[in-house]
Amino acid sequence: MDWYPRHRRDLPWRNTRDPYAIWLSEVILQQTRVKQGLPYYLDFITSYPTVQELAAAPQDEVLRHWQGLGYYSRARNMHHTAQQVAGEYNGQFPGSYVELLKLRGVGQYTAAAIASFAYDEQVAVLDGNVFRVLARVFGVTQDIAAPASRKIFQQLADKLIPADQPAEFNQAIMEFGAIQCTPAKPDCLFCPLQTECYAFQHGLVQELPVKSKAKAARTRYFHYLVLRHNDTLYMKKRGPKDIWEGLYDFALQETDSAELPAASIVDAIEGLGGRLAINLAEEPTTAMRHILSHQKVEARFHPVWLSEPLVPEAAVAAGLVAYNALDIERLPKPVIITNYISNTRF
Ligand code: SF4
Repeated sequence: MDWYPRHRRDLPWRNTRDPYAIWLSEVILQQTRVKQGLPYYLDFITSYPTVQELAAAPQDEVLRHWQGLGYYSRARNMHHTAQQVAGEYNGQFPGSYVELLKLRGVGQYTAAAIASFAYDEQVAVLDGNVFRVLARVFGVTQDIAAPASRKIFQQLADKLIPADQPAEFNQAIMEFGAIQCTPAKPDCLFCPLQTECYAFQHGLVQELPVKSKAKAARTRYFHYLVLRHNDTLYMKKRGPKDIWEGLYDFALQETDSAELPAASIVDAIEGLGGRLAINLAEEPTTAMRHILSHQKVEARFHPVWLSEPLVPEAAVAAGLVAYNALDIERLPKPVIITNYISNTRF
């Protein structure tokens, strides 16, 4: 806490006690670096200065603002939570850690952050930075990826957090982990905790914290049929229980391999009542890769020019709608789709 005032970064969400602004920043910063998250935070707080305004926004618009941050379920949960606060709670965020936990998408970390930063409640936050600092300074060897370890770290942090400055303590330990006690190259040489740090004293800085490896990502092969008629492209909104829920992509065939026989494309187009205006074999396909936390998507885009619009009933059944360029710009899309569209001349 002595170190913090001299080293803290001046970040906009640190200069407020508004639980909405704090909550917004925490949702955006989960699994996102400050540098990447900052412009998104500024965009959201400017576009939706109050929780009521965020709640009233259409979901597509919220997802469009979120585009590029990934983990889109966070954006949907965020929107749902805003509606919950605006409706059930009359626009006021719940006033304690326990009550905050009842909000959708608000876990222990976020509830502790809001409760301490906005209300000065004495609850210790635990994020990746805090786990690392505690593991190193106190020599805790439990696997930080194991759910059972959380209790040990929480008890330790709860013992440390002072009653009179809980917000300052939480900010300080997180910032210390973010810029001093970093994962790969901690600045041990100029560290005020050097003499009492277990990891430094025992030569275990690189070994701590202990974290078991995540499972290998599975590979999925997405074949997109980019159906075009005149100045429109057919796109569809992705459904629930899969990645990119609520975002827009093209007609999709998922297979076990990177190749898709031309006959499958022709079958799919005929199934939609479409008529080809081109020789498929002459159209170059585009391959792109997108890596998510648990999946690797190998996408191949197959441009398909149609001489007539799709049969309306078949298009509706497949969830496909023809959009012009202006509409497409406004739709929320996975990054891979945005990249494909911006790299392709239509
Ligand atoms: S001495 Fe090194 S490992 Fe220990 S707290 Fe300081 S920066 Fe982290």
